[in-house]
Amino acid sequence: MTHGHSGTSHSGASFPGTSPPGTLYVVATPIGNLQDLSPRAVQTLGNVARIAAEDTRHSGRLLAHLGLNVPMLSLHDHNESHRVEQLDRYLAAGEDIALVSDAGTPLISDPGFVLVRALRERGRHIVPIPGPSALITALSAAGLPTDRFTFAGFLPAKPAARKQVLEQWLAHEATLVFYESPHRIVHTLKALSEVMGEREVVLARELTKTFETFLSGTPNALLAQLVEDPNQARGEFVVMVQGASPKTEQSQHAFSEEALLNALLAEGVGVKQSAAIAARVFGGRKQTWYATLQAMKSED
Ligand code: SAM
Repeated sequence: MTHGHSGTSHSGASFPGTSPPGTLYVVATPIGNLQDLSPRAVQTLGNVARIAAEDTRHSGRLLAHLGLNVPMLSLHDHNESHRVEQLDRYLAAGEDIALVSDAGTPLISDPGFVLVRALRERGRHIVPIPGPSALITALSAAGLPTDRFTFAGFLPAKPAARKQVLEQWLAHEATLVFYESPHRIVHTLKALSEVMGEREVVLARELTKTFETFLSGTPNALLAQLVEDPNQARGEFVVMVQGASPKTEQSQHAFSEEALLNALLAEGVGVKQSAAIAARVFGGRKQTWYATLQAMKSED
């Protein structure tokens, strides 16, 4: 165990008492199953002077379950910047503090970033106590590629903005991970169907809880399952989407040009009109596209 670090060196520390006094411990808590709380997390929560919690009533139940009675204060999106000074004073006075959120790892779609950043800038000692996070738990059992993935947080609530964000990720080749609430899951699947089409999607629901379920399929196939069994639309979700298949820019371009021209001709669109459409879609001169289309037609 190492003693007496400065705030900027590597920590290597584990429990209060082994880190310098005045340390902020960022403690992960369960995402459903209380057995997932690590012994190190329990020990840390029991040894700190105060616990900053996203919701003191919610975390109060966890502490009661552990038989702990530690003073708590709230730290949420609306008071986080005001809490910085107060918590910094406690730390300066040598108190250890734990930061917890309602579930999982603080700062991951949860409050804490403003505090951790401000305290780092002030040279305070900050120690993570790792544990569950819904996104890693979901990825670890989904069967989608995990060598590269992008966590994109929550999608916007408004339909147009949601579709716009999905369109931005359309060509992204890494697995995409979103958090989603139960009342929006059907809308999100519809948007995925419209924007991403036939991609494989995995829904991880109620992770570590009694009704933990993994469903996989195309967005439309999943929609059908949720309509058939509305219980599948209940609870908390992690939505994972297979990345775009890798294509070289050249082959992607060549394929889409040829496919469109062939489709236009096959549908009986005239050469002149097809040339105008191609010029609009791919750029270039109408005359050039006209010549290409004539050549394709005479090859048939
Ligand atoms: N800090 C948390 C973490 O580390 O995973 C995430 C907090 S975020 C406010 C809550 C979202 O996480 C939920 O809407 C859901 O998308 C996801 N989530 C949390 N617990 C979950 C669970 N047990 N099963 C599935 N998703 C969960």
